[in-house]
Amino acid sequence: MQGVGMRPFVARLAKQYRQGGWVANTPEGLNIVVEGDPTLQQQFLKALQINLPPLARIDTLHCRQHPATGLRHFQIKESEQGENNSPWVLPDIAACPQCIDDVFNPESRFYRYPFTSCCDCGPRYSIMTALPYDRERTSMAEFKLCPQCERDFHDPENRRYHAQTIACPRCGPELSLFNINGQCLQQGETSLQQTIQFLREGKIIAVKSIGGFQLWVDAHNQQAVQLLRARKNRLHKPFALMTADIESAGKFCRINPIEQTALTSLGAAIVLLTRSDSSLIAEAVAPDSKLLGVMLAYTPLHHLLLQEFGSPVVATSANMHNEPICISRQQVEQQLSAVADFILDHNRDILRPLDDSLLRVIADKPTILRRARGFAPLPVKLKTAIPDTLAVGAHLHNTIAFSHGHHAILSAHIGDLENYQTRRLFNETASDMQRFFKRKPQRFITDLHADYASSLSLAKQTSPQAPLKVQHHYAHILSCMAEHGLLPPLLGIAWDGAGLGDDGCLWGGEFLQINDKGYSRFAHLKPFPLPGGEKAIQEPRRAALGLLYASQAVDSDAWRNLPFSAFERQTLLAALKQGVNTPTSTSMGRLFDAVAALLDLSQINHYQGQAAMTLEQCAMQHDNIDAYPFRISDEQPFILDWRPILQGISEDLLHFPREYIAKKFHNTLVDMILNCALRAEQPMIVLSGGCFQNAYLTETALQKLNAAGFQVYRHQQIPPNDGGLALGQLAASQYLKE
Ligand code: ZN
Ligand code: ZN
Ligand code: FE
Repeated sequence: MQGVGMRPFVARLAKQYRQGGWVANTPEGLNIVVEGDPTLQQQFLKALQINLPPLARIDTLHCRQHPATGLRHFQIKESEQGENNSPWVLPDIAACPQCIDDVFNPESRFYRYPFTSCCDCGPRYSIMTALPYDRERTSMAEFKLCPQCERDFHDPENRRYHAQTIACPRCGPELSLFNINGQCLQQGETSLQQTIQFLREGKIIAVKSIGGFQLWVDAHNQQAVQLLRARKNRLHKPFALMTADIESAGKFCRINPIEQTALTSLGAAIVLLTRSDSSLIAEAVAPDSKLLGVMLAYTPLHHLLLQEFGSPVVATSANMHNEPICISRQQVEQQLSAVADFILDHNRDILRPLDDSLLRVIADKPTILRRARGFAPLPVKLKTAIPDTLAVGAHLHNTIAFSHGHHAILSAHIGDLENYQTRRLFNETASDMQRFFKRKPQRFITDLHADYASSLSLAKQTSPQAPLKVQHHYAHILSCMAEHGLLPPLLGIAWDGAGLGDDGCLWGGEFLQINDKGYSRFAHLKPFPLPGGEKAIQEPRRAALGLLYASQAVDSDAWRNLPFSAFERQTLLAALKQGVNTPTSTSMGRLFDAVAALLDLSQINHYQGQAAMTLEQCAMQHDNIDAYPFRISDEQPFILDWRPILQGISEDLLHFPREYIAKKFHNTLVDMILNCALRAEQPMIVLSGGCFQNAYLTETALQKLNAAGFQVYRHQQIPPNDGGLALGQLAASQYLKE
């Protein structure tokens, strides 16, 4: 992969072991020719495989003898443009410890310079215009190296030897602080000092980061955080936090060793952590959640600001209503004039928006929930090559994927295709990636759902073949299979909010037998009506009503306790009776919602997954191992009847705390999984879909399945939610025929 500092590393080694020759990037990989003392050459070969640069990895190493040609000097050959056809593009990498040392070392020429980087760190994908990765094809091209940077760049002994992003206070990008009207207030170091002062005063600052602007505000200042909520019109969804280092994060969160590794890794994602001490963080940061999303400073600019500021800040994407993140000061001025007070800008352009990635440690493994900065667009190796194909993903949490021979490239998180701006980003991403990787897809794949904006985008496509349509939950399972290089047959368990099924119903609690021609539906939840359709996704109480109606419990306490006005109740009952706007669903996500509503934990979803997350956190407060009974039909597809669960919950509500019931509900679902796994008699099991973002559900299911002798696979690098769907759609073209 280019940009990991491998060529400079080889050149340094060659010099150390007194070898002549050269090193060059080729489409097949790195080519090295060395000529010199044979003993030293053997040592060179050994050294090559240890002490690799942090980002480099050797998959295979082939050696061949050539006749000597008298090479005395060692050189790095320039990348040849045009020939390059690599699926490997380096994502943006967190500032390395050595660069941070430079930034805080008064003796260093990089002292307090916010754009310090080296071969091992700094922005990459967000500033690249094309491959191969060289400075002239990045937004650093306009910054001409000063003599000292020029020297470092050409000095094999230097850490910044061939570092394409090298820059210093004399020749590199510069900070400026603006007010929201576009008036420049300060530049350079004084803009840093002024920003810190503004943060202390509770001001909201748009800070230009790697993949876009972030809105920063003092995380300790309740009033300021509330002001940000009000201005952004985002009243409930937790805000992400940024702190200077792991020690400061440890002051308000519990961090286990795996979470610590995730926090400090090169991708520098937001990691979901359990809060320990709430006194340091304003209540308004995450009003209804025990989990906090925390990331560590990942650029020298962040380090400079946060070291001096001394406590965590809210660092949330600078956007409105799930629109794409702003990447230029002009965008911030236009879109966020009523949100941000000031803008800390700089003159290194961001070429494409990349949100901060999000991950959660589940059963001791980091699991990516939103894959963007720091991870995209790293390719996934496929079992077989797929001809040039573009898969356009789902409607919410959209990403797209295209094939690149034996690799699949999954785009960074694009977002919910509800609004025009995100749909525009969707189109831009498709053309940007095609240009970038020099691919021209000939075949297209969509979800079965024709009304998804992603599916509609292809309606106008002039292609000889109609797009291949892939069922949503099948794609979920294939996505996880592609991540782990698995081949059928196996049992796939896909649990999520909803996706269109083959029978026109909304599926979401699915067990699929995967074979080499497709899949068959092995088991699913008993269908239930969702009064109000789309509205039932926003309102868990409607899902509860639908379930109670379907179990003929319209006169029960549970029915009466749901918070509806008499009029609403009447209207919804009439709609249910007549089947008006009440789609039928087997959605596990809606079952979670319904239980959260019955326990009165959450009646309205203010953001996606809120009720389910609240229910999981509630369950974590209790440690019973009880489970509700459920019924299962005699014939395939087996129908999992939840009515006994509902009955049990209604009875338990009279005697037990909600925490007990929430836990017991989770345990029941694990029983369902185990029951179906034993029936299916497939040694391999794959878990996918948004419900497996639930750590307790996933961990307990894993334990039980492993104990019963199953081999279980689940997502890690690719999101289990719809953000991973495009990869599965792409993989489907191996099995399905148009
Ligand atoms: Zn560095
Ligand atoms: Zn310089
Ligand atoms: Fe889904």
